[in-house]
Amino acid sequence: MMGKFNISEKLIKIKPYVVDKTNYSVRLDANESFLAFPEELKTDLWEALNNVMFNRYPDTDSTELCMLYGRYCGIDPKYILAGNGSDEMIQILINGFLDCGDAVLTLKPDFSMYKFFASLMGAYVLEYDLGEELEFKIDDFVRLAKDEDVKLVIFSTPHNPTGRTISREEILYIVDKVDALVVVDEAYFEFCGETVIDCITKFENLAVMRTCSKAMSLAAARVGFIIAGEKIIENFKKVKTPFNVNALSQAAAAIILRHPELIKSNVEKIISERDYLYKRLVEIQKRVDREKFQVYPTKSNFVYIKSSEAKKIYESLKERAIGIRFFGKNLRINAGSREENDALLAALEEIL
Ligand code: PMP
Repeated sequence: MMGKFNISEKLIKIKPYVVDKTNYSVRLDANESFLAFPEELKTDLWEALNNVMFNRYPDTDSTELCMLYGRYCGIDPKYILAGNGSDEMIQILINGFLDCGDAVLTLKPDFSMYKFFASLMGAYVLEYDLGEELEFKIDDFVRLAKDEDVKLVIFSTPHNPTGRTISREEILYIVDKVDALVVVDEAYFEFCGETVIDCITKFENLAVMRTCSKAMSLAAARVGFIIAGEKIIENFKKVKTPFNVNALSQAAAAIILRHPELIKSNVEKIISERDYLYKRLVEIQKRVDREKFQVYPTKSNFVYIKSSEAKKIYESLKERAIGIRFFGKNLRINAGSREENDALLAALEEIL
């Protein structure tokens, strides 16, 4: 091969996000909704897609989508911007609002895209380690942000992967105390109902992120939102690419958002399966050593498990074509349909 170039130091250090492409028959590893897009909306969906003007660029502001999302979450659409999944919103926030070398504070563990985009941007990533007992000491967290002159604080609540929440009081305390932009990723909001979205005009440094990927059965469409006060929104607009949400996705998300009653009933079904899965996992826990299988309470659509045999469990499930997430000594399993949950539980009984 001819020609020559060097890969940058930054790129050499980047650990790529690895997507598990195994063809599982039961897939419980990506926190997706196990419910398909509502059948009763399919006719509306095909009609909307049929009306998409494929020769034209999409609406730069996703106007209708943001209007409908505003109605859904009770916020004026002028405080809402849409993106190509919340992944894109995270990337824009990090690229646009930080200078190279600025410090970012997140949790360890948390959604890996925060660290991924921050490292790619050349930011200095600080992780507040929740430790074995998953302890969050808010004063230590705030002190770290202040001592290290952090410019961006970002975390998920309900928290991925543990399913716990950081309380509203704690979040607002952080927002008030730090001199940084605080991004609260509420991707799993619908499964717990706790939010700080109503505070975005009270604190100029607060931004909330939401997504259609979890509760709305639209992971394939890639639609996410940032909801924040004027200062953040104005500056975010400066760095967003003009046509970031394609017209097909804008149309699909608009259809579901016109039917909040269906979102609500689907969320209830997911919560009910999550509770079933959690209860049955706790029954398994009671029959084995604590070390071997410790199940954590959850407010999300998945359950977190600490296990000295995590690797063996993950691999044995994989052999049975059942996919779950595995991180070191921990596992994360999202709620599936009753059949999927039962298949997982039967396999776990066998393995343990
Ligand atoms: N935030 C969190 C906390 C997540 O867990 C995920 C997906 N796993 C996302 C954001 C990504 O959402 P989206 O599909 O909108 O990019």
